[in-house]
Amino acid sequence: MAQRLGTLSELRAALDDGRTSASDVVAQALGRARELAPAFAATRGLRADRAAEEALQADQRRTARALRSVLDGIPLLLKDNLNHRGEPTTCASRILDGYVSPYDATAVERVKAAGGVVIGRTNMDEFAMGSSTENACDQPTRNPWDPTRVPGGSSGGSAAAVAAGIVPVALGSDTGGSVRQPASFCGVVGIKPTYGRVSRYGLVAFASSLDQVGVFSRTAADAAALLQVISGHDPLDSTSLDEPVPDYAAALDGDVAGLTIGLPREYFVEQGVDPDVLERVRDAVKELERAGAKTCEVSLPHTPYAVATYYLIAMAEASSNLARYDGVRYGHRATGAHDLQSMYSRTRSEGFGAEVKRRILLGTYVLSAGYYDAYYRKAQQARTLLRGDFEAAYRSCDLILTPTAPEVAFALGERSADPLQMYLSDIFTVSANLAGIPGISVPCGFARDLPVGLQLLGPALGESLLLRVADAYQRRTDWHTKTPPEAS
Ligand code: GLN
Repeated sequence: MAQRLGTLSELRAALDDGRTSASDVVAQALGRARELAPAFAATRGLRADRAAEEALQADQRRTARALRSVLDGIPLLLKDNLNHRGEPTTCASRILDGYVSPYDATAVERVKAAGGVVIGRTNMDEFAMGSSTENACDQPTRNPWDPTRVPGGSSGGSAAAVAAGIVPVALGSDTGGSVRQPASFCGVVGIKPTYGRVSRYGLVAFASSLDQVGVFSRTAADAAALLQVISGHDPLDSTSLDEPVPDYAAALDGDVAGLTIGLPREYFVEQGVDPDVLERVRDAVKELERAGAKTCEVSLPHTPYAVATYYLIAMAEASSNLARYDGVRYGHRATGAHDLQSMYSRTRSEGFGAEVKRRILLGTYVLSAGYYDAYYRKAQQARTLLRGDFEAAYRSCDLILTPTAPEVAFALGERSADPLQMYLSDIFTVSANLAGIPGISVPCGFARDLPVGLQLLGPALGESLLLRVADAYQRRTDWHTKTPPEAS
């Protein structure tokens, strides 16, 4: 069995010392991905030959002392909704069967320009719709900590791959929690940046006003390194922020003294939250207090409306975004149709899975004349109130700390029959997307041998602050060094 890969920082040091080569590290990552695929299904496709070639080029750059960045020669995986030129992008959907990306997503282009070696794609819920990675068109990903459980979702493959030591870092996307919740379930770090911080160009659209590309890693320091590479203005995304990108690594000084951390009353409730999860998160709060941070209670009073607001907006936008899969321009086309209308409907009936269909139907409904005001407009108003909650809270604290999810990883199949139960898994993560603010999930212990994550939420463009606090916490704890027994 190929060994677990180290963290990005460890691999960087080993490459720089000449203890290993990019070719060896990439071969190890590919070997491990292949060996673990049958048990966990974290990956959807590997590009072994091209990755090996790119690793060789990275080794040549190292010999020529022409390294491009800290990422040069480091293997990584992409969620299968990021376009990568010449490679399939499937979104774990049959409707994209046969689609080959004609261009690179901006995040992918930046990773390549920095010398990162993409070894393949990771499994996900179809079109990023789900919280468990069970909505993939072929097979679900399993949690490396317990293969009878889900890895969370929708970026479950990326989270599982980092937890299983296949790669040190991976990219995902977060529309309502899809980076943070799987990071929490798999015991790794996951950061969703501020809306507009990372270009969405080439990320397959689910809900465009909420989608953000995010990063998985085992340490906050590694997240800082990869986020640095992919952040920054992009004229190809009209919602991209034209703001300078700070030096994230330089922000990691280990110091939290003098910071005030807000604890939202509405998130520390007994009802609906696993008591062991709450206890681990409270322990983490104490640890940060010992490190010199102050804490105070804050209120985010519109929290009870967050899940409903999120699902109305996300489904409305999805119904519009997914209209483009008509059998003409992308991927799958049904055979045997006798006219255009039946070609459309057969293609979409065959191509989309149940959850995607449910959302297209509900999204079309909430946007339809007669219901628009009652649902879609109402949800937009609630979104404004939720954003206002955070603005008010940040007047009395620097950042906010909550559990990432109300639970630990649940069993495969446990929630598939009950979409509402599944949607409730996002209760603590969706508000950040609605408000456009950054969030990070950091491992903070175990409940019944399954990882627990704490979530830090910052003000817009507060990534440095989140990374600094997460890193300070990791310097004082060793949760992130634990490895899953099933993939050790
Ligand atoms: N679980 C949420 C949903 O199903 C979030 C998905 C995401 O962030 N992509 O919509």
